[in-house]
Amino acid sequence: VFTADVVPQAPEDPLFGLMAAYHRDSSNLKVDLGIGAYRDDQAKPWILPVIKKADERVRNDPNFNHEYLPIAGLSEYCLAAQRLVLGTESPAIKENRVCTFQTISGTGAVHLGALFLSKFHPNQSHTKVYVSNPTWVNHHQIFGNVGWPIAIYPYFSTESKGLDIDGFLGTLKTAPEGSIILLHACAHNPTGVDPTQEQWKQIAAVIIERRHFPFFDTAYQGFASGDLARDGWAIRYFVELGLELCIAQSFAKNFGLYGQRVGAFHFVSAPGAEATGTNRRIFSQLAILQRSEISNPPAYGARIANVVLNDPELFAQWEDDLRTMSGRISDMRKGLRKRLEARGTPGKWNHITDQIGMFSFTGLTEPQVQILREKWHIYMIKNGRISLAGLNSRNLDYVAEAFDDAIR
Ligand code: PLP
Repeated sequence: VFTADVVPQAPEDPLFGLMAAYHRDSSNLKVDLGIGAYRDDQAKPWILPVIKKADERVRNDPNFNHEYLPIAGLSEYCLAAQRLVLGTESPAIKENRVCTFQTISGTGAVHLGALFLSKFHPNQSHTKVYVSNPTWVNHHQIFGNVGWPIAIYPYFSTESKGLDIDGFLGTLKTAPEGSIILLHACAHNPTGVDPTQEQWKQIAAVIIERRHFPFFDTAYQGFASGDLARDGWAIRYFVELGLELCIAQSFAKNFGLYGQRVGAFHFVSAPGAEATGTNRRIFSQLAILQRSEISNPPAYGARIANVVLNDPELFAQWEDDLRTMSGRISDMRKGLRKRLEARGTPGKWNHITDQIGMFSFTGLTEPQVQILREKWHIYMIKNGRISLAGLNSRNLDYVAEAFDDAIR
């Protein structure tokens, strides 16, 4: 029988514990380098100016109401999300090979994809989902929750603090044919290390050779480089090669719509005469899964995103806002590296500016992270990952001084 007594205590989420400790700390020197959300130079959450405008437009629309959305979500939004991730000229869109569902942000999109594959994969118990070492921790939980055995592929080189491309390709080559390979489209979380376009080509070649199934997670398009096409390059390249794949897309970071839970899941089927029929079958099954999980996706945030994605003037303003965010992050990277090099802090610091996106794997060790927390009131995850969004013009000097102290 089931009773509450059989439920064991779960371990505390490390990020949650970190945040609680940060909030308890009463020092006015404290710095939060754990947060996974953008902060402006005043260390405050930033509502994108374009989102303010779009929000007003949604609110003042005389036809606005709180009705349910369709099961697949707001259809114009879904089409715009497709165009954004795949490019307006995508062959997959033209050939009606993309099936899109609005989801509960990126997390919901990864989950819907994982669930869909678990339902329809002909041999789930003998197939593994390969994730990068390390990856966003939730990947392990989401795929694990729907029964996927998980394996890892080498990704981060502790030596170079860049990509271990040989290890990565080696594992792709030896993984059983037809494995599912989870890929971060850009701004890899937690390392900030992305493959170059040449490396993506090598990765795609092995995936094709071994008939693996690529599953892209794109949570930072435009936020990484400030350029939507550049950050979408890898996915578009895979689609151009004719690969069948799926994509989990989040608009949390690039629109700053974290709590609104705006995302999409796309299944892109391979080119072929039966594309429309295939799309219809996939749609019919995703509709059943979506219905049983959430019935209908949340409307408000998707309406805001929809306004921006479908209005050329607001879209251009959004691109400016993306450059503001990615530019500030990039300035913080340069600022931190410059200060550490100026101090002669032991080690090499080029990886701080080579890495991209919100996060950086600094190479700081657990004892150093401990010193930063106890002596300097600087909070970050034990693995040495920092969120660049926690840096600003007022705390850069202080953080560099503290890193220098902890490392020596
Ligand atoms: N995937 C990656 C790699 C992420 O870093 C995140 C957010 O941190 C997500 C997905 C999903 O986030 P959300 O559910 O807020 O869109």
